Amino acid sequence: MKDKRDRTEYRKKFWKENKERLKPKHREYWIKYSKMNRDKLKEKARKYYRENRDKIKAYYEKNKIKMSQRHKKYYQKNREKIRTKYNKYYNKKYEENMLSWIGYIPEKTICQICGINIYLGKKNKSNAIHFDHRENGNETIKNTPSSWLYRNKRTLKNEAIWKSCNFGMLCFKCNIQLPTKNRKEYIKKVYKYVFEC
Ligand SMILES: [Zn+2]
Repeated sequence: MKDKRDRTEYRKKFWKENKERLKPKHREYWIKYSKMNRDKLKEKARKYYRENRDKIKAYYEKNKIKMSQRHKKYYQKNREKIRTKYNKYYNKKYEENMLSWIGYIPEKTICQICGINIYLGKKNKSNAIHFDHRENGNETIKNTPSSWLYRNKRTLKNEAIWKSCNFGMLCFKCNIQLPTKNRKEYIKKVYKYVFEC
């Protein structure tokens, strides 16, 4: 154990002292290596996760606060850089993927509950189409369907996945008022509250 710690300390010190020298090389190597083996690395990571799920979960649980503080600090320090990168990424995905769905999903439609105009892929919450899970959360696309559209180009396979989900199209306000799970029971309770109490 002591040896391991010594080695780690040594490595840390070495890295610190030679940071400027190592950084570009390390980066260059990593980019090249990860591009070459991206799929292999992903599969390796997945396999590692599958085999060590409990250990990893316990580690995250134990270091949750420390990690979130570190992330916060990093974000504060690099806010502009992260935002620029994020916007660039999403704009690219918007062009590549989201726009390819126009025609299959209407670019403009009305909220199926309140009837206001809503639009596909708008970044403004108030006038964007919010895709509503109507199958009690049993759809193939579980979380935010809009993000899925950002990540996935329109292909025959993806069209079939999308169709199978049978999403409703609502405005932000109507969507936020409906729970995904057990909505019929919820509506019954609301009805009772409004009309019978
Ligand atoms: Zn609405």
